[in-house]
Amino acid sequence: MEQLATVLVRPGEADRLIAGHPWLYKGSILRITAAAADGAVVQVKDHRQRFLGVGFYNSKSKIAVRMLAPDRVEVNEKFFAERIRAALALRTRYMPGATSFRVVNSEGDLLSGLIVDKYEDVLVLQTSSLGMDQRKGMILAVLQELFAPRAILERNDMASRRFEGLPEAQGTIVGEAPGPVGVKLNGLEFKLDLATGHKTGLYLDQQENYRRVAELVKTTNAKQVLDCFSFLGGFALHAAQAGAERVLGLDQSADAVAAATQNAAANGLAERCTFEEVNVFDWLKAQTVPAPHEKVVPRFDFIVLDPPSFTRNRDSVPDALRGYKEIHLRALKLLRPGGTLATFCCSHHVDANLFLDSILAAAYDCHRVLRRVAVFHQAPDHPVLPSVAETEYLKGFAFEIAR
Ligand code: SAH
Repeated sequence: MEQLATVLVRPGEADRLIAGHPWLYKGSILRITAAAADGAVVQVKDHRQRFLGVGFYNSKSKIAVRMLAPDRVEVNEKFFAERIRAALALRTRYMPGATSFRVVNSEGDLLSGLIVDKYEDVLVLQTSSLGMDQRKGMILAVLQELFAPRAILERNDMASRRFEGLPEAQGTIVGEAPGPVGVKLNGLEFKLDLATGHKTGLYLDQQENYRRVAELVKTTNAKQVLDCFSFLGGFALHAAQAGAERVLGLDQSADAVAAATQNAAANGLAERCTFEEVNVFDWLKAQTVPAPHEKVVPRFDFIVLDPPSFTRNRDSVPDALRGYKEIHLRALKLLRPGGTLATFCCSHHVDANLFLDSILAAAYDCHRVLRRVAVFHQAPDHPVLPSVAETEYLKGFAFEIAR
């Protein structure tokens, strides 16, 4: 094996690496024993020269080393084949029926900086660290061998690549441009234009929650459903398929509303689903601030709140909590007695307890008592490593109005 440059870690900074966190910040480095090229594999040792593992080095990034393994592995095609096979095996175990899912989710699959999504027979790749980006060739070879996909797209158009000194890039890198792909989730089909769509496509992390919300719609015999922040209609279509008679989806994006409307039609649910291009905050406010001598009429049996993350960083948490409280307050006012609210938070900076606090503050203000009937998490293709706090971000609850 080639001689690797050694990165020595400051006293006290080794513990999190030993616990499995793969990020070594620039500020945690004591010194580097030899010049290391950006993107190269380095070995990492604590200040007493005890070996901690190997990782990708990048002097341009705040995360100077992304750990790959606690032993001296060769980072070659065989290494990627083993890691990606292990990731795939996890999906097969926990999501046996799924045909579209996230194959590799970065830190959660011990491959910091690599995301691979499978949309039926098309794969979408993101490499957000220099070390991964430089090894795209090996990774593509493994993916072709494992999946024989019709096409592989690169969606490296995220601004965060800048922090690694990487340019933005996007396009078809294997096969022909696939055109719209019909993605199957729980028996419904969603048309996706992977070349231009939001993120890398659909919110695959909600795949199981769609199914569970559909079950709740069925169990509670909900007929009038509101899906706030509906995007491509994930929750709306599942609710309609589960027996809801009228589903209203709200999203501020005209493209999302058009796509959701088409998805409803393609699944034979056009009669039951309507999508409107509105700002959810404004819409909810207009519905819940009554004119003089009028009352707010609760008219929904089931409401879904699945907003985008309201936080960019820790500083924006107070504003985010005000936002969460507001939509909950208004949604609760629109729920019929005995109705159900399914609500989600995808911000890593707002944990389940903080999120729950904002919901309870809203319930308090409108004198409702809530009964929790479900707890939601991200789907198993977005694995959570409790020692790597950043891997956990999606949480949700369903509540009945108890009183
Ligand atoms: N529930 C969706 C995911 C929602 S993602 C699903 O399961 O796929 C967040 C969506 O909220 C995006 O489609 C975005 O266009 C929309 N959005 C963001 N802010 C909004 C606002 N203030 N009003 C309405 N829609 C908004």
